[in-house]
Amino acid sequence: MSFKADKIWLNGEFVNWEDAKIHILSHVVHYGSGVFEGIRAYSVKGIPAIFRLKDHMDRLYDSARIFRMEPDISKEELIEITIELIKVNKLKEAYIRPLIYRGYGMLGLNPFKCPIEVMVAAWDWGTYLGQDALEKGISAKISSWNRAAPNTFPSMAKISGNYVNSQLVKIEAYENGYDEGIALDSYGFVSEGSGENLFIVRHGVLFTPPTNSSILPGITRHSIFVMARELGIPVKQHVLPRESLYVADEVFLTGTAAEITPVTKIDNITIGNGKAGEITKKLQQCFFDILSGEKEDRFGWLTLVK
Ligand code: PMP
Repeated sequence: MSFKADKIWLNGEFVNWEDAKIHILSHVVHYGSGVFEGIRAYSVKGIPAIFRLKDHMDRLYDSARIFRMEPDISKEELIEITIELIKVNKLKEAYIRPLIYRGYGMLGLNPFKCPIEVMVAAWDWGTYLGQDALEKGISAKISSWNRAAPNTFPSMAKISGNYVNSQLVKIEAYENGYDEGIALDSYGFVSEGSGENLFIVRHGVLFTPPTNSSILPGITRHSIFVMARELGIPVKQHVLPRESLYVADEVFLTGTAAEITPVTKIDNITIGNGKAGEITKKLQQCFFDILSGEKEDRFGWLTLVK
């Protein structure tokens, strides 16, 4: 595993990793004017399989629309480029990072004078929070930093600048010895982790905050809805008070990076029996069975790169 590959696709061509550079006065560097995605490719019996590629690209273009920065290149073209990039770099398992950003033009707050540029990178990547985290769970802290109020930053869009908030949540958790931070929304209700959506299980029912709790509508979150339906587990999108976490039977986080990670301690309170819960494990099993090719891709989630 290394944070490097051969080529990066940048503004129309595959360039060497070392040469994928932009001007220091590019708008995005100063003002966070970019929209991006985090996508994963799994090795399905040796063949790279990109997880929910179309859905990630849909969200990328939705983010771009929200931030008034639709690129010239079409979604379909970017999908093809992403597939090509995996081949060019001979990757089996990968983390894929497309970014649409405002480049070099004028360094004023009006972004329209700066060109809209596009890049896609991919590299080899293992688990985000570690294999142990997936099996044994992690600790989390409720952050003193809230998610942005609905009329401040558009949380439905994956905008680079939004991630200042996520970093503050992560830094606080890290500095205080917790694995992850969970942010409340501006009304004090549970929102999400620094880079993950959150679910709780109580009496056999799954609950997760709705989009009006300042969350990013996660693609893994949606995958939980799909799998839960198949498994016959009821799901409710519900505003959650902070204390509902402490009395939950199970808590887990979902995301492209975190996959499905149990949370076994929050604010030093043990959740349930302190172990990965039964429903969490069922969902993990169902998820990884598809991503490993163990079971059929019946939801059409995988794009095989042949
Ligand atoms: N919330 C935030 C703030 C995130 O950055 C992410 C990761 N993209 C998620 C939730 C989970 O989304 P997904 O399952 O699409 O990766």
